[in-house]
Amino acid sequence: MLTSIKNRSVIVTGGSKGIGRGIATVFARQGAKVMIAARGEEAAKETVNALKSEGLTADWVKCDVSDWDSVQNMVAKTVETFGGLDILCANAGMYPQTKMVDMDPSEWDNVISTNLRSAFLCVKACIPQFEKTGKGRVVLTSSITGPVTGFPGWTHYGASKAGQLGFLKTAAMELSRYNTTINAVMPGNIYTEGLEDLGQDYLDTMAASIPLKRLGAVEDIGNAALFFASDEAGYITGQQVVVDGGQILPESLEALEEI
Ligand code: NAP
Repeated sequence: MLTSIKNRSVIVTGGSKGIGRGIATVFARQGAKVMIAARGEEAAKETVNALKSEGLTADWVKCDVSDWDSVQNMVAKTVETFGGLDILCANAGMYPQTKMVDMDPSEWDNVISTNLRSAFLCVKACIPQFEKTGKGRVVLTSSITGPVTGFPGWTHYGASKAGQLGFLKTAAMELSRYNTTINAVMPGNIYTEGLEDLGQDYLDTMAASIPLKRLGAVEDIGNAALFFASDEAGYITGQQVVVDGGQILPESLEALEEI
């Protein structure tokens, strides 16, 4: 049993959909006050209303995580609404699938900016709050794709997700000054709207390649993030955990068939 995070103020970027919505739901059900940051109003409002209908505390702020002014506004609105900030879950991301031969350099820049620059911007914007409380938590949503595995079409994505882990190591050292930890969750294939867009064939093939024989649920990532955000994880920083149902384990197709 973890010490309660009741009433802690949490930002979840990309909290309107998919994994972010899962993280927001797990945290809100533990009594945290959750600020969802996303660009699209409809999905964000729908998620906030769903949480409120359970009697939970949630709000949303329009934010583009690749834009510095927008990110600063996200933190300001959170502090204004909830009276402070304790936890940042930097989760928003995108994964368009384009092979290098067809990739316009602007697509590369957009993915790196949305997935990696955003991690720097969001953490930087929260530092004054962590300095104030002397006790902050940051959880990044990285991926197995990039740091551990490769997949054609995702050079930019893989670079951004591996880059997040490089960022994490030195960020952990800098944030230790404020008694603040930063860690990353590395999801395998998690069932989300974004993944659904890749098609049923993709979903079926991926499920078959996972030893636990299912795609992950968004709450599987939310629970891992909750642990990193807990008091009990206060001595863990600069680390990452793979949450993938064993997806990265098989050495070959034969190894998978042996199960
Ligand atoms: P998703 O269902 O497509 O949701 C993405 C969320 O991020 C949405 O709330 C979206 O809202 C928000 N977002 C995207 N660009 C943004 C921007 N520039 N500014 C603010 N918000 C933005 O994606 P997901 O599958 O849940 O993925 C979430 C994270 O998990 C990503 O970092 C992804 O790389 C990582 N991940 C996912 C999987 C998986 O299997 N699904 C596996 C490994 C890692 P708006 O579009 O309205 O802004």
